[in-house]
Formats: sequence, structure tokens, C-alpha cells
Amino acid sequence: MSEQSVTGATSRPRRLVVLGGGVTGLAAAHRALELAREQRVALEVELLEASPRLGGAIWTDRVDAYPVVEGGPDMFITDKPWALALAERLGLGDKLLSTNTMNRRSLVLRDGLPVEVPEGFTLMAPTKVVPMVKTPLLSWAGKARMAADLVLPRRADDPKEDESIASFVRRRFGQEVLDRLVQPLVGGIYTGDPERLSLRATLPRFLEMEREHRSVALAGLKKGRAESSGISGARYGLFVSPKGGMGTFITRLVERVKAGAKVRLSTSAERLEVLAEGHRIHLASGEAIDADAVIVALPAFAAAGLLEGASRRLADELVGISYASTAVVVSGHALADVKHALDAFGLVIPHVERRKILAVSFASRKLADRAPHGSVQLRTFVGGAMQPELYELSDARIEGIVLDELHAILGVDGTPDFVRVMRHHRAMPQYLVGHLERVARIEEATRALPGLALAGSAYRGVGVPDCVRSAELAAEAVALGASASSRRTG
Ligand SMILES: Cc1cc2nc3c(=O)[nH]c(=O)nc-3n(C[C@H](O)[C@H](O)[C@H](O)COP(=O)(O)OP(=O)(O)OC[C@H]3O[C@@H](n4cnc5c(N)ncnc54)[C@H](O)[C@@H]3O)c2cc1C
Repeated sequence: MSEQSVTGATSRPRRLVVLGGGVTGLAAAHRALELAREQRVALEVELLEASPRLGGAIWTDRVDAYPVVEGGPDMFITDKPWALALAERLGLGDKLLSTNTMNRRSLVLRDGLPVEVPEGFTLMAPTKVVPMVKTPLLSWAGKARMAADLVLPRRADDPKEDESIASFVRRRFGQEVLDRLVQPLVGGIYTGDPERLSLRATLPRFLEMEREHRSVALAGLKKGRAESSGISGARYGLFVSPKGGMGTFITRLVERVKAGAKVRLSTSAERLEVLAEGHRIHLASGEAIDADAVIVALPAFAAAGLLEGASRRLADELVGISYASTAVVVSGHALADVKHALDAFGLVIPHVERRKILAVSFASRKLADRAPHGSVQLRTFVGGAMQPELYELSDARIEGIVLDELHAILGVDGTPDFVRVMRHHRAMPQYLVGHLERVARIEEATRALPGLALAGSAYRGVGVPDCVRSAELAAEAVALGASASSRRTG
């Protein structure tokens, strides 16, 4: 292992190994190289990726006349600044496309028909009164129960105790708002079951609204007034995608990482051994690699297998983070073959509607350059935590189901220009009730293994900006070692 003197001089460069070549692993390697350059520390970085390609869940392709086809994430939010800041450092600042200004609305299915989500309704809270009163999505009894939030007291039991999203919504707004609005909207993001998802870990701002204002609706309406007086903009405007799609972000990141680090594909890390100084990583091939520091940017279940021998306690906690699988079916259609006007960014489907798809994103309505003139690109989500059995079907069955559902719900006919089924096996971590307490225990157990850091979507946020942040924090914690960190902060 490297012998570092008090002056920071080393007998050989420090070695950092990053495990996982998704956006998290790449961003961690990138930040480590940046730090080494800034602080003039000799650092060898090696990134190991089990599959033959980099990018993990991010997958962008061109299919015939459709220039940008996203199989995974298609944009990222900018009010969490970390992905935006990285994109700017990668020279992509002037190549970020905002979502289209037309059609900024979402639809939700009601009795088989797409209906507009009431204007100003943000996942759980209304920000405008009139659209809530007028919406055909809720019965009058449902609206009256929702309005009861205005007079209901704060949560009576221990407010520190975690609560599911469903319990919170039922308590504040009633079952109908949960079934008809919150479940499909939240399901569209986390592909999760609101009965099991932790409010505090997934949507803490609504908990804060209750704590600060008692009534969540009142807090939302105040926010709505602030927004319509121009203090802040609509949430749709906060999303961006690099021109050419999310793959451009990965390509640029890979170029930078490869300029300073060794990147090995089809290289699976199996086991981590803690040495007297540093770590030894045993690969599936039988080879072993020694490192002063290791960043584990793998899904939690893969990290658990890797770390079993190093810390049973840590592995047990990691394996407790559950995952959902989802298939994204991307298809291209002539607009003339679609009866619905597609005058929105997408459609979410409540579980109570008993359909076989979770949501449809109208990709070419959201972002420019996603479809040739006269055509439309759709991305349909199948499976998730609520319908895991559908993910188990063959690609051909999933494709058939999606085309049938698109026909029944949106009037999509004819032969599609193309259809691609992209599978994301155990790719969506589910932050279940008690998640943040588990993450705190994981962080504590990790601190007992110096030179090791965990990063990725499993812990404190699933979005690309959260992944970038956790990657950069991990690099800052271990890449240069304790003496370099103290020089940095001192
Ligand atoms: C369908 C879908 C849509 C999404 N949409 C959005 C969106 O629009 N906006 C947004 O912000 N976020 C979105 N997300 C979330 C976001 O894309 C992910 O959370 C993020 O890309 C995860 O990156 P990661 O690097 O942590 O994990 P991954 O991308 O899963 O990468 C982990 C990598 O580790 C590798 N690996 C696994 N085991 C080993 C091993 N033993 N050794 C070496 N390598 C290994 C894997 O092959 C993989 O490449 C979406 C996610 C999905 C699945």
C-alpha cells in the first residue's frame, strides 16, 4: 500500500479502484481525477464494469429516423444542482435542452379515459383551488375529503417515526386522492408501492409542509400564489437533457475518465478483502487487484455480495434494500395512426384501473428531436413493484401487451415504425419505510472500513443528480486519503 509521509510525498502513487460503470461510478472516477489534478497528488484510478458497456441504466440509441431513443432516464432535474454542475464542467452547459413549452401537463386515466391532472397539482399537494374543484378525476365526496386537510390537525403520534406515502395521503387527503392521483404519479417516478415507500426518504418536502403549515393543501396553495406571482417557475421547466440524449452525458464523462484512468469492461468484482493497509478486490476471473481506496458504485444487492466477508453487518443492511424491475418499451408511430391528440408530456395509470401498463411518456412531446416530422415517440413502462409478474413475461409478450394497451387507451393503430423492449432488472431501489435509518446504519458500518465508500441510487436519492452527488462525496471522502483531505480542509 502507499506510504504517505506528512509532507504528502509518496513512494508510489495512491491507487483508487471504482467498482461499477454506471453514471455513479463514472462521476466518482471523474471527481477523483479532478481532485488529484487540483491538489497535484499522484493518483492511479481504475474503474471496473461487469457488463460490456458503460452507462448502466443510461442507454441512448438512434433507431432509423428517430435520432434519440432513450431506454433509461431521458432527462434530469436542475433544482438539485449536481448533474447540471457536472454537465457544465464537461462542456455541455450550452448543449442542454429544456423541455418543450407546449403541452406542459400530465394525464391520468379515469375509467379508461385520459383526463388532465388538475393544473398545479404537484405529486401530493394542490397549488390551485379552481382546477381541484372542477376536476372530473375525483368525486364530490373525494373532493370534500381532500378539503378536510385544511382543518385537520398535524400528525398526533411521534412525528419522528417514519410513515408510508399511502398512510400520509390517506390521513391528510383520503383514499380517493391516493388511488386516483398520488399512487399513479408516485408510481410513475419510483415504480413503487406507496403503501410501502417511506415518505421521509422519497418526498420529504410534503412532511415539511405538514410540520410547518399543519395543512398540506394550505402550504401548497401559498406556494401556488408565490409561483403565479412570478417567484418561481413550473416544475416541468426544471428538467433538461443534453442534446443527443443522456448518452451524450455518459460519452463525455467516459472521454474525461479514460483520459486519466484505466477502464476495464466485462470485469466483475466478486469479493473485497480488507488488508492491514488498503483492500484487495477479487475478480470473477480469479485475478486480484490491490487498492488504497475503493468506491463501490454498485446496486446495494451487488455491494452486499462484495462486502460479505469484510463486514457481515454492512452486507446484511445492504441486502435489506429492495429493488423493483421495470421494462421500458420505446416505440415510434406515425401521428396519423394515433387518435388521441397527445397534448401532454405523458399519461399515468392508477392501479385501480387494472391495466397492464404503469405509464406512457410522450417522449417527442417533451423534448425536441425525438421523432421525425409527422411521427411520435412513446415510452411505456411495464412491471415495477406493483405488477412484478408482467416484467417476467417474454419481450414479445410485453411488446404485444403494450401495443394492445396503447390501442385501447390512446387509439394507437397501424404498424409502429419500431418497437424496442429495454429491461431494467432490479434497477429501481425502493426506499421502504425505515430506509433512512437503514442508510444511517450502513454509513456507520462503512466508517469502520477506512478507505471504502459506497455511492449510488440505493441510498439518498434515485435521480441522476442524486447519484452524481453521492459519487462526488464518495470521491471527496476517500480518493486522496486522510492526509490529503486534511490538507484540503486545513
Ligand atoms: C427505467 C429508468 C428510468 C429512469 N428515469 C430517470 C430520469 O428520467 N431522470 C433521473 O434523474 N433518473 C432516472 N432514473 C434513475 C437513474 O437513471 C438511476 O438511478 C441511475 O442511472 C443509477 O446509476 P448508478 O450508476 O448508481 O447505477 P447503475 O446504472 O445500475 O450502474 C451500476 C453498474 O454496476 C455494474 N455492476 C454490477 N455489479 C457489478 C460488479 N460485481 N462488478 C462490477 N460492476 C458491476 C452494472 O453492470 C452497472 O453498469 C431512471 C432509472 C430507470 C431504471
